[in-house]
Amino acid sequence: MSEGGSKSMKWDHEADVVVVGYGGAGAAAVLAASEAGASVIVIEKNPEGGGNTRYSGGSLRTYLDTKKASDYIETLCDGATERDIIETFVVESGRNLEWIKAMGGEIATRPTPQSFPNSLPVAFPSTRGSDGIGPRARVKGAGDDAGIDLWGLLKRRVDDLAIRALYSAPASQLLVDKDAGVTGVVAQHGEQTLRVRAKRGVILTCGGFEYDTQMHINYLGQKYFAMCNPANTGDGIRLAGEVGAELWHMKGVAASLGYKFPEFEFGIRCSMPAGGFMFVDQLGQRFMDETGTDAHLMWSPTSYIDTRTLQRKRIPCYVIFDEDTRMRGPVGVTGQGKVSDVYQWTRDNNAEIKKGWIKAADTIGDLSRHINVRADSLQATIAKYNLQCVGGYDPELGRAPDTLIPLGRPPYYALELWPCLFNTQGGPKRNARAQVINVRGLPIKRLYSAGELGSLWHRNYPGAGNVSEALAFGRIAGRNAAAEIPLG
Ligand SMILES: Cc1cc2nc3c(=O)[nH]c(=O)nc-3n(C[C@H](O)[C@H](O)[C@H](O)COP(=O)(O)OP(=O)(O)OC[C@H]3O[C@@H](n4cnc5c(N)ncnc54)[C@H](O)[C@@H]3O)c2cc1C
Repeated sequence: MSEGGSKSMKWDHEADVVVVGYGGAGAAAVLAASEAGASVIVIEKNPEGGGNTRYSGGSLRTYLDTKKASDYIETLCDGATERDIIETFVVESGRNLEWIKAMGGEIATRPTPQSFPNSLPVAFPSTRGSDGIGPRARVKGAGDDAGIDLWGLLKRRVDDLAIRALYSAPASQLLVDKDAGVTGVVAQHGEQTLRVRAKRGVILTCGGFEYDTQMHINYLGQKYFAMCNPANTGDGIRLAGEVGAELWHMKGVAASLGYKFPEFEFGIRCSMPAGGFMFVDQLGQRFMDETGTDAHLMWSPTSYIDTRTLQRKRIPCYVIFDEDTRMRGPVGVTGQGKVSDVYQWTRDNNAEIKKGWIKAADTIGDLSRHINVRADSLQATIAKYNLQCVGGYDPELGRAPDTLIPLGRPPYYALELWPCLFNTQGGPKRNARAQVINVRGLPIKRLYSAGELGSLWHRNYPGAGNVSEALAFGRIAGRNAAAEIPLG
């Protein structure tokens, strides 16, 4: 922890509120603080803003009934998030759509895509309160991948207000006065060390630890690839930890299954068109319901460890499909995620076959050699699955009958599948006022947070909750930081 804030300290910049991280939560915090009359500076590690928010699907959750929706979220959070925080979230995120419309955004409801793994309309329909959960919505724009449209809207509004932004300036330290609390931020801008004074408060909105492998191993128990903004390396956890913050939800992730090719540092999400396909482990056996698991929990069945050998036979695992499925549509999602900056998957998957990303073979025996799985085992698995398709019944894994489509004519195809993060949820704990809480359960003076850095979500993430939370808690943090009594 650093002592700071005395009038004698030399400051490079000064504002009422300093926001660290310019994604969705940062933008919402900037707008709310500014609307409340505060001067604001936003500090961003990248040369431009957007973070994970611009790479997201931009889905926002609507809620039909505060009590039922709070019951539902409370159950999903397994007692790891206090009720008042959940209720505050449901009420404030209920204002998201009106807030977006007031900025000139148009809203569309989000259809459920006909591909797998899916984001289900309600991820856990048998959970208490699920009938209080409404449909997903998004900002209308050029396409279905609405994170970029939401981000465009937020950025235009921030630009209109001529908010000061320091880009390519990762925050490296919080400055603290033992009486006043957090008084500013140190950021590195090239060779320069900048001290930015916050007269009323600092808001941490600098995302999760999707690109810190050591943190994955420590907190999540396994390594993941990430599909999002490479600058999200857990900086906010270190910044807040250094000033005594309690951490929470460190095991929480939203993660699917995806591909990792050596050309890119990030993963690409797997999405299978409705057709004949299956996931198999390294022994050539199916191990999960491929079509009935929500997209954000696809990682979970792969985390199995054989406790006799300590081997993880499902990381990587493989998707296997046939020629008809290949022709039905792309098996990779490139409209969202970091990949959207650099690559567009082809509709017929042919370019990806030519690149060698998709392994192809005329027989299952040859395909199995490509992925180093025993041929007899894979053949037996496919024969059993095809028989179950005839009967419309998958007794062991429970795949829905209408998705039990046999693997038919060759060629056959395979890709390696890895757990791939949309985002992490853990970070400094906050209360319903968005104040960061210390290890003794008390608010750290003048320190706020919002977004996926210390999200309210824990292990059972139901989709469309992170962007909703980023906007809702961004506004709460912005309003409350702006209302602090200014330092002299
Ligand atoms: C492919 C994909 C699809 C998704 N789809 C959805 C969806 O449809 N709905 C949903 O709810 N969620 C979705 N998510 C998750 C969602 O995008 C994020 O959880 C949410 O946008 C987080 O917003 P944020 O503002 O907290 O973080 P971010 O938007 O990531 O912003 C954090 C910012 O902080 C910056 N930063 C990092 N370190 C520092 C530092 N030291 N100093 C200064 N700045 C720093 C980063 O560069 C970044 O710009 C998706 C994620 C991905 C990857």
